[in-house]
Amino acid sequence: NETPVAQTKFSNVPNTDWILSANRAWISKMKSNWQNPLNILGDTIPVVGVLPKKEREKTSIEAWNGTHPWTYELADSEDYQQVIEATSEWYGFSVNERAELLRAAAVEIEKNRADLIGVAVVELGKTVAEVDVEVSEAIDFANYYAQTAIDLYYTEGIESTSSGINLVLSPWNFPIAIPIGGVLASLAAGKRVILKPSQNAAACSYLVAKALWTAGIPKSAFAFLPAKEDTLDAFLIDDTIFDAVILTGGTATAKFLLERTPKLKLFAETGGKNATIVTALSDREQAIKNVVQSAFGNTGQKCSATSLLILDEEVFNDNHFKYLLKDATESRPYGNPWDFETEIGPLAVKINEKLQHVLDHTPDSQWLLKPKVNGGFFLSPGIKWGITPADYEYKHELFGPILCVMKAKNLKHAVRLVNNLDYGLTSGIESLDTHEVDYWLNNVRAGNLYANRSTTGAIVQRQPFGGMKASCFGFGMKAGGPNYVAQFLNRSEKVLFS
Ligand code: GLU
Repeated sequence: NETPVAQTKFSNVPNTDWILSANRAWISKMKSNWQNPLNILGDTIPVVGVLPKKEREKTSIEAWNGTHPWTYELADSEDYQQVIEATSEWYGFSVNERAELLRAAAVEIEKNRADLIGVAVVELGKTVAEVDVEVSEAIDFANYYAQTAIDLYYTEGIESTSSGINLVLSPWNFPIAIPIGGVLASLAAGKRVILKPSQNAAACSYLVAKALWTAGIPKSAFAFLPAKEDTLDAFLIDDTIFDAVILTGGTATAKFLLERTPKLKLFAETGGKNATIVTALSDREQAIKNVVQSAFGNTGQKCSATSLLILDEEVFNDNHFKYLLKDATESRPYGNPWDFETEIGPLAVKINEKLQHVLDHTPDSQWLLKPKVNGGFFLSPGIKWGITPADYEYKHELFGPILCVMKAKNLKHAVRLVNNLDYGLTSGIESLDTHEVDYWLNNVRAGNLYANRSTTGAIVQRQPFGGMKASCFGFGMKAGGPNYVAQFLNRSEKVLFS
């Protein structure tokens, strides 16, 4: 008995315009509010779901500016069991009601833009501009999945609702947009959902979860259960509990989960080892601009980051190009994420072993720009010149601000170098020649392909995001694309009842 709704045409929300002094003043005020994060977060971030009150283990995390002053509660397996077995009215909500709640969530997230920026700076050292873009993406996911739910409802032959419960395992590098994307897509499909955020990003996901509850999404439909990894073992060994386990994280984690439980309904977006090819027929200065942004945005901590730069021989031997690449990287403001000018901030987690390996095994002569280490969380941008397919850096995702440069004999060779990588998430080309771009498009193997544009920052609806090869496990329709919500619907129900 649903009445048709007028569809609102989806459009992406704008990011903040930092040229405007009013916006800079707005963010300075936010900054002073966040001098003491406890005023906004409280002392303890709670576990939230339909659960009895009880004492829970608490923990805190060390980050770029010391150990966080707040703690967060850890859900135990009893909490998980109770939430999984709970009942909720969500399945009974009409598609329109669900879509309206998703749209209300978008409004709430927008209202909280300043504090969401604040929490990500404090918790993870993300820069203001980087979080701003992420908040826009979260809002886009909410509006887009609301629209998709309605589109599915009006599409002949597709189930638009299916009951059950999903689990979202979200990462720390996009602590706002990624958890919200998985949660809202699940809710749009009629599922209840549990969010287990990365332990490094519990505060960010808590604030964004609060926006969802404030918008009217019931706690019985969406529970927030930070936990230690092994708390979930019992639930992930059994492949019948969750209708979908939506993971964004490491390739090793996805492999492990599937090896242990082959029938687990896993939807995983994992790592990347992404390359940008620069041919002799490119606009070289524009190429440098795009590459620097792709390699060092969010301090290189994006699955989509360009971490290999493959240069056509002529460009490789162009000393001016080399000089400009170094200069463009070195001159980007680096350091404290609270400084408004900073473009490259600290690492969100301590220098990982792969970055350490590269730092330990690179002779000075091979650094075009040698990264500087300051404590566990500060690593300035580095460029390693002239690596080969036999090198460690070619095979491993570093997930930090180190760009490695390779030489290719020609475009064909460059594409082969890309295709021989284990991963296949994003890939870029810089060339003004349409034949070259066409050749590349027809031959390169990666999920998101970008010509003459950075390889990061996929835009909801325009550039649905997802990979192939070792960048994707289990099922995996692209996030922010038309099939994302649909993949969570149990089409077999339709067959059974029709
Ligand atoms: N969607 C993001 C982008 O296009 C990357 C997400 C990730 O790092 O997992 O840059």
